[in-house]
Amino acid sequence: MSTSWIAQVRNAGVVEVARRLELQVLDGGRHLAPCPVCRERTRSRRDTRPGPVFVTGRGAGWTCSRCSAKGSALELAMFVLLETAEKPGKGDPRWGLLRARCTGLGLCGTFAPRRSRAEWKPPPRQRIAAAELAALWERCGRADEDGDVAGWLVRRGLDPEVCARRDLVRALPTDRLPRWAHFRGAPWAMGWRAVLRAWDHQGQLASLRGRWVHAHEPPDGGEKAGAAAGGPGSAGGAVLACGLGRQVLEHGRRPQWLEPDGELCVVVTEGEPDWLTWASREDLERPPVVLGVFSGAWCDEIAQRIPDESRVVVRTHHDRNEAGDRYAKAIARTLYYRCAVLRSRGAHGAA
Ligand SMILES: [Zn+2]
Repeated sequence: MSTSWIAQVRNAGVVEVARRLELQVLDGGRHLAPCPVCRERTRSRRDTRPGPVFVTGRGAGWTCSRCSAKGSALELAMFVLLETAEKPGKGDPRWGLLRARCTGLGLCGTFAPRRSRAEWKPPPRQRIAAAELAALWERCGRADEDGDVAGWLVRRGLDPEVCARRDLVRALPTDRLPRWAHFRGAPWAMGWRAVLRAWDHQGQLASLRGRWVHAHEPPDGGEKAGAAAGGPGSAGGAVLACGLGRQVLEHGRRPQWLEPDGELCVVVTEGEPDWLTWASREDLERPPVVLGVFSGAWCDEIAQRIPDESRVVVRTHHDRNEAGDRYAKAIARTLYYRCAVLRSRGAHGAA
């Protein structure tokens, strides 16, 4: 019964099919990446957040913001598994191939969908007041006094005492955690215990990021950073910032202690460990402004806070992943006309 396997694939829903196809499922099932048709990974040329594919109709459909491709779970499976962007005609032998591949992935045949699409609802988008984020931060403990967090820092080649003294990272408290302190349904307490702060372009607390601290993989496979977004104007653009970085974001000008002809150096890193590495360095004569970017972090408003004629060193992982390359290009594009922008090459993490 050929209709039944097709119905089964459709009923499995877009999110479940995407998981089995090993697409990235983002924002609790609201977005997917990459698009199976145009293969883009970001929402638009300007919006570099991942997930150009929007999940629609409570998981029944999807549509790509980049190329306008759309369909149901069946088309998603078809475009990926047959590497085509068009539905095969009636009687085309590729239908048999698609069925075999869907069966192999457990999408039909003996597969019983865990959630039908009628039951599937995207979780409500949550925004957390800055005061609430700050309250949790205040209850966090010193990073060097928490075995898990200190152990994670040491494995990353970082000094827990310096990180704690500079208040770059703290340890999640073990009790009374707010409801939003979870990552895709898994509570931060399970292991996302290293907590860092991200700031918006006015130097206001915009989100807390919980970072997985154990040596073993997190339960959801490969996902390492949980983020709780909130605060004033935190619609995406927020960066990790050292104390000097927060001053620059807040005031949008050179620090007053810098002599008039002194050069302000800004180091932009990617991800929490590299940001910690640079923000905790003690061997530099004049400390740089150290900002850390992650997916969707950089925006024009943040770029505008970087003082004119700063020397900006972009240390994203462009040698290792495409995303790092995109961040680097986006950062350079927003600054090159008024700052000296250098993209560091060579092994990341090296001086
Ligand atoms: Zn597309």
